[in-house]
Amino acid sequence: MFELQISNLNKTFQNVQALHQVNLEVSAGHMLAVLGPSGCGKTTLLRCIAGFEIPDSGEIRLGGKKVFGDGLNLPPEKRRVGYVPQEGALFPHITVAQNIAFGLPRREKRSKRIDEMLELVGLPGLGERMPHELSGGQQQRVALARALAPSPSLVLLDEPFSALDAGLRATLREDVKTALKEINATAVLVTHDQEEALSMADVIAVMRSGACIQTSDPVTLYKYPADIDVATFIGEATILEAAVCDGNIVECPLGDLLPVAETCLKNCDKAVIMIRPEQFVIGKPANGTVSGRVLKTTFFGHDSLVHLQLDDHLGGHEIQVRLLGTHHYQPGEPIGLKINGEVMAYPVMS
Ligand code: ATP
Repeated sequence: MFELQISNLNKTFQNVQALHQVNLEVSAGHMLAVLGPSGCGKTTLLRCIAGFEIPDSGEIRLGGKKVFGDGLNLPPEKRRVGYVPQEGALFPHITVAQNIAFGLPRREKRSKRIDEMLELVGLPGLGERMPHELSGGQQQRVALARALAPSPSLVLLDEPFSALDAGLRATLREDVKTALKEINATAVLVTHDQEEALSMADVIAVMRSGACIQTSDPVTLYKYPADIDVATFIGEATILEAAVCDGNIVECPLGDLLPVAETCLKNCDKAVIMIRPEQFVIGKPANGTVSGRVLKTTFFGHDSLVHLQLDDHLGGHEIQVRLLGTHHYQPGEPIGLKINGEVMAYPVMS
């Protein structure tokens, strides 16, 4: 059963089409991440779902019930949607407990619910603190607790970790994911951080210029991006040009070694190949490998980036290979390169 269904949603501001024919579905208990560059329409989509913005056309259903469309436009308070904004979400002059109680009906056993929510977000016993007595990460946890307290049918998270430093962001992502799964909440997370989307979401919708370009589970999106822009947006990639004849790659710096995923190269004579850094395997030159030399190695702690140059007869292309751990390849050292798994190829129309 879908908790959120969006059909053919459009929204224009003056002459900017912020949303263009957006279609999305989110199953109950799942998290959808809406991922895309600045200005692609992510916040507008979230605001339309919450009821803060009125779409021009289309339909929105929550829990199967229409909240927008065919002349109907339920106000935000009737949609049972929780909202966690970027930052500054808490009322500064009331306690944590009062912040969490804000959206609760008076008849509900408030203190029990507040304690449950504090427990859920990992802050038991902090109800009497004032917001300024909490760290940034703790404040975002309280904002989540406040959004979840009235048991909304859907939680909207608008870049909730963007103001936090990298270490805290990673911890909080995991904790928020766990807290939402624990109560089987359905959520929409807006982010421009691909790592956040990949690590948190069940489904990711990639947006560009107001439209949804691809909606997939994280693994499918990473391995089989719909086009080269999605490929480079969703992670690191090496892009190489290749010639195509009768739908097959015939000339590529990586030669015949290349297992290409099913693609449609029928009506083109050129293609671009996309390879993820972890798909490269390097070692000593050997039969069945592509030959090149090491340019330099950059060490990042948990992994290293080895910069290579393919031999002249292969076009001399530069390639970056990410390897786990420490590596001691010397500049100039000859290497042999192999590809692990299939690569994606996209037609280039001339
Ligand atoms: P960001 O990641 O920077 O927050 P976004 O993907 O959330 O961007 P939106 O804020 O939804 O993008 O904006 C989409 C487009 O609509 C942008 O071109 C923006 O300038 C425009 N827009 C958004 N709100 C308004 C408004 N109230 N009036 C006019 N234009 C608007």
